[in-house]
Parts: sequence; structure tokens; C-alpha cells
Amino acid sequence: MTKDYYKILEITEQVSEEDIKIAYRRLARKWHPDIAGNTKEVISMFKDINEAYEVLSNKVKKNEYDKARRFYNYAHEKNSTNDRTATKKNTTKPQDSKMNFSFNWEEFLGKKYRDSAFKKEEAKAPKKGDDIYTDIEISYFEAISGVTKTINMLQTQVCPKCKGRKFANDSFCSYCNGKGELVNHKKFKVKIPAGIKNHSKIRLAGEGNKGINNGANGDLYIVIHVVEQSFHKIEGLNILKTVPITPYEAVLGTKIKISSPNGNIDVKIAPRTQNGQKIRLTGCGIMQNNHVGDMIITVEIKIPNNLTNEEINLYKKLEEISSCNIRHLEDA
Ligand SMILES: [Zn+2]
Repeated sequence: MTKDYYKILEITEQVSEEDIKIAYRRLARKWHPDIAGNTKEVISMFKDINEAYEVLSNKVKKNEYDKARRFYNYAHEKNSTNDRTATKKNTTKPQDSKMNFSFNWEEFLGKKYRDSAFKKEEAKAPKKGDDIYTDIEISYFEAISGVTKTINMLQTQVCPKCKGRKFANDSFCSYCNGKGELVNHKKFKVKIPAGIKNHSKIRLAGEGNKGINNGANGDLYIVIHVVEQSFHKIEGLNILKTVPITPYEAVLGTKIKISSPNGNIDVKIAPRTQNGQKIRLTGCGIMQNNHVGDMIITVEIKIPNNLTNEEINLYKKLEEISSCNIRHLEDA
């Protein structure tokens, strides 16, 4: 037998599919020409390992191979018995008997492969490329207004030179560096329409992995994830938002950060801001069909729950020194 794929992968016929994979991975790493050196011997070994795996990892091929291998071993055993008999009797020529039992193993296997359906299908039939899925996060505002996003994708293609076999013209395929596939980086501009719902999918036809044997390309699916934003309400194109501030912030004034469809913006809270006071941010609402709304902020004075004793004492002091009676303010 020219090639014993089990010997090449250093396994027995009884091992599981998983063990075949493990053995292949280990040996493919060990004998990879990038690691073991780009010599003829290494390339030949690497080629054998890949060939062995190609056959043993495919149920149909493995089955054919096992049958042929058993037949060969049987024939070979018989052959050596005959050899011994021949030697003892010293009559027939051992070479002749050997010739009778030897057969072109690769041809036999090759013919079997050519005859079987999987080979035909694999070799000629166009195969659609795989679909690719990718996730993209957009803000709540972007979901309402619509947005254009740029995404980066890796698209794989079976190597057109070695057809995924990792070898071309009996040597390591230089076109794909023996990987059997090419990975292309592609940039897409995706227009996400206004009003898109969370978990919607946008399909870019033909932008998935490349088809094989002139098969159609797969599709690219972009899964939309809308990031929720709290404390806001939408009214037409306006965004209504309530923002809590502390009593001292209300008295002294402060600066706060607000997320808006235009990104984060700094908003000034004036000194002596009253509870319920509204701040209108013109043009910071939702953009739709060339119209843009406003953002309306309602300030809510809130007392923090976790006041320290020191803070309470300062309020006590404030109570002592304050001369204003807020309930008679209007009479004053
Ligand atoms: Zn290649």
C-alpha cells in the first residue's frame, strides 16, 4: 500500500472522529512548513497529513478507504504467505507473485472517488458561499432617526489556485500560503433606516462568503442591537428628559452631561434653578426627513438618600441662619 493514512496520522482504525481531528491538528501544526521548514520532505509530509485527514474526516471517503485498505492488507498477507511458500519450495519467482497481488492503490481509490456522488458534487457542482452574521450596536436615538454606520468584515474565499486543497502542482500552495482559503477584509457602509426595531436584521445580498465553483455568494446579515436609554420620552421629534439635581446644585448652579442624538452635550444649570424648570435645547431632538426636533429637559430637585451627619448638620445650620419663610414669600 502506497499510503497508510492511519499510520500517517499516527492513529488506529478504531479511533473516534474527534481523535482523528486532534491527531490531524497536532501533526499539521508540527509539520507546517512555516514551523518545520520549507523543505521537500516537510512539504511532502504536510501534504500527506492533509490528504489523510481529507479522507479520514469524510465518512464516505473513509468508508471507501477502509474497504480498500482491508483488501490491500488481505492481499498483502496472502502475498507474503505465498512468498514464504515459494521460498521454501524454491520454485516460483517471488517477484511474480508479488506482482499478482499488487495493484495501483491510488488509481483504485481515485476511480472509486470519481465514481462516487460526493466527488462529482464536490468537484463540479456550484456551491453557495456561507452567510455571515455580524452584530452592530446603535443608540435609541439612532434607531429613531436612522443612521449610516461603517462596519469591517472578514470574508473568506476558497483559494482559487489550490481549490482549498492547500497544495498546487505538487507543492505547497503559495497563493494562499497553504491555508486553502483567502480572507479578505471588506468595509461596508450600512444605511440603517429610521424607526428600526431592536434585533432587526439587515441583509446585504451576495456580501457573505464567496461561492465555490461559480456558486452564488452567501449573504451578509447585520443584526441590530438598540441600546436602551432611560429617563426620556419621545413626543413627535422632541425628546423629553427629566434630570435630577441636588438642592445645593439647584441653589448654586452646575453643569451636567446629557446624551442626545448629537452625542453627549454639556448643559448649564443656572444658579437658583427651581424644581420643574425646563431647559430647551434647540436642534437636539430627533432628525427625520430634514426636520429636527428639540430636547426639553425638566429639572427635578431630589434629596439624596444617603446624607451624612455632616451634611445634615450643615442643613441644621442653614435652618438656624435662614431668615426666609418660604410659605409667606408671595406676601412679602
Ligand atoms: Zn491555495
